Amino acid sequence: MSADTDVRNVIVIGSGPAGYTAALYTARADLKPLVFEGSVTAGGALMNTTEVENFPGFPEGIVGPDLMDNMRAQATRFGAEMVPDDVIAADLTGDIKTVTDSSGAVHRARAVIMATGSQHRRLNLEREGELSGRGVSYCATCDGFFFRDRDIVVVGGGDTAMEEATFLTRFARSVTVVHRRSALRASQVMQSRAFADDKISFAFDSEIAELQEEGGALSGLVLRDTFSGRTRDLEATGLFVAIGHDPRNELFAGQLDLDDEGYLKVESPSTRTNIPGVFGAGDVVDHTYRQAITAAGSGCAAALDAERHLAALT
Ligand code: FAD
Repeated sequence: MSADTDVRNVIVIGSGPAGYTAALYTARADLKPLVFEGSVTAGGALMNTTEVENFPGFPEGIVGPDLMDNMRAQATRFGAEMVPDDVIAADLTGDIKTVTDSSGAVHRARAVIMATGSQHRRLNLEREGELSGRGVSYCATCDGFFFRDRDIVVVGGGDTAMEEATFLTRFARSVTVVHRRSALRASQVMQSRAFADDKISFAFDSEIAELQEEGGALSGLVLRDTFSGRTRDLEATGLFVAIGHDPRNELFAGQLDLDDEGYLKVESPSTRTNIPGVFGAGDVVDHTYRQAITAAGSGCAAALDAERHLAALT
């Protein structure tokens, strides 16, 4: 397309379940969306996972990258134009929004849907990347089911860590919460629930020093005492990292309202942001559910909101 002249109806930024669903709906509404998929992780977070067993419509489950390829193909079939590139700047303030891609080309649209997702925080340990999906996980709701009768460690001291630890006791033989301080940050009610659970034990003032691997999977952990520096082995074949997420907001921080944790604020239950014509969907908005199906649902809502916004302009 001639980037500097045409004004699009809608630009979608992001290619996870939220972005592709927004693309599908806006394409079927004949809005001819331009979709920036990102240069590194086109397809979003599920490109880094294996089985997805909780996306409705796939009774046998589906491999994450296949699910995302299907979503992409479905949106493309109705005319969504995919660009495997990053948006590096956006000016969202006027009636016509502009976004700049990595080549410096400027694209203009009357509506923009932000679906840039969020990034889970990592421990940054050696082997963490290669063991992700092979014993190391960042989502208990997604992966807990695969850890039946296993000894599991949850790292973190906040509400999410307590919630994940408590949830994982449904499957695990034991759950050890590893926290680098001597007290938890979690709310009292979440702490009480975890303390009362027989399957959960705690390793305070401790951090993970090493991930051990055997046969391509996590086979054990080494813990380090944060005061003495002494290390000890801990038997575990599952590690859930629950130390927080960072919404990808760099593109619009300073223009769109964010909450205290940096998530994009929308006028819930709509997906409208504080700037007319700009909508937010998926994990960049949602710090509560963070599931593929909820991201897809809000991508649909953003597309319908954008459609109504555009209809009101004519
Ligand atoms: P994402 O999927 O994160 O996609 C965001 C996209 O935006 C990315 O492609 C990124 O490249 C792109 N992007 C960001 N910034 C820019 C930019 N400036 N320009 C262009 N593109 C940009 N959920 C389930 O329901 N079931 C599961 O089994 C499950 N398993 C999971 C396993 C793992 C390992 C992980 C990490 C998550 C899992 N989840 C699962 C959660 C699920 O993946 C997310 O909730 C969902 O992907 C969020 O969708 P999203 O569209 O909001 O964002």
